[in-house]
Amino acid sequence: MKELVFASNNANKLRELRELLDGKYMVLSLSDIGCHDDIPEESDSFEGNALGKALWVKERYGYDCFADDSGLEVFALGGEPGIYSARYAGCDHDSAANNAKLLERLENINDRRARFRTAIALVCGDKQPIFFNGYVDGEILKEEHGAGGFGYDPLFRPDGWDKTFAEASPEEKNAVSHRGMAVRKLVAYLEAK
Ligand code: IMP
Repeated sequence: MKELVFASNNANKLRELRELLDGKYMVLSLSDIGCHDDIPEESDSFEGNALGKALWVKERYGYDCFADDSGLEVFALGGEPGIYSARYAGCDHDSAANNAKLLERLENINDRRARFRTAIALVCGDKQPIFFNGYVDGEILKEEHGAGGFGYDPLFRPDGWDKTFAEASPEEKNAVSHRGMAVRKLVAYLEAK
């Protein structure tokens, strides 16, 4: 079976990709290939960061690879937190602090429109990189609702929904989410290859 590295050690994302590509690709994590590098994210775009991670693996470890980068863009804040989503309030992955900062920045702002975005970059052989993008539009509520999900989920209500991502099951979220959309495009491409 063909091997393909997913430049991540996120157990949830890896499990999902492995299930989707079962029987077609052996999906390896960064630790599976002995990569314990702190891969820099130096780009000013999701696409650039995803590509940087995929190229890092391809160039140093020789494996075909894909990588993802995601975040939240709030219209009234000019796209903040964007590529800084994980570290909006300073410390990496402190969701409570990030959510509190977002609510503070949106105080007295009526336009609460926001978009989650994911970019996946795939680097195979000596071919040009290919990108798969996903997004979901919604709005930022005035307080947190729900205990599921992660990150900004308790504040994000997708358009047409009456609950937040944090109040949805993983299946409900995957069906409409930015990551679900990008991953489905990647899987369709790999299956057709
Ligand atoms: P990553 O690139 O998928 O690791 O996402 C970077 C950051 O964006 C996360 O740490 C979260 O703050 C935010 N984020 C990305 N996707 C989601 C999501 O589905 N729900 C909530 N927050 C997310």
